[in-house]
Amino acid sequence: MSAPTLEQFQQQVSELLLRHRSLLDVLSKYGQAGASVNRAVTKAVTECGCVELNARKQDYPEGVAWEEARTQLASHMEGDLCEHCKDVLKSELGKNLFYMSALCNLLNIKLEEVVDAESQKCSTLGLFNLT
Ligand SMILES: [Zn+2]
Repeated sequence: MSAPTLEQFQQQVSELLLRHRSLLDVLSKYGQAGASVNRAVTKAVTECGCVELNARKQDYPEGVAWEEARTQLASHMEGDLCEHCKDVLKSELGKNLFYMSALCNLLNIKLEEVVDAESQKCSTLGLFNLT
């Protein structure tokens, strides 16, 4: 089975969302889901240890080509997620997507349009899109 389109996914969410019809309920669940994503990443560092953090202030190199600057900037991270942490994180990201879709459903926003618009922005801004 191939991956569902965003439209299909959104439809699926709307069919399941009988219990979360309230905008307030969806908003708070969405916020919670975001916090759980952060928590899963944090636990990968502090409990599992598959990823290590080594962070310090970094200055943007000036006067160098952007491609080169990109290689000089650090992610402050070492290692890769282990299978367990990756599974947990994927599941939390999934919940995040679920409630994002639910929010879009309630507010009559097409997820596909959101992704399209953001993708347009990315291609317009190109490498300078830092945020
Ligand atoms: Zn891990």
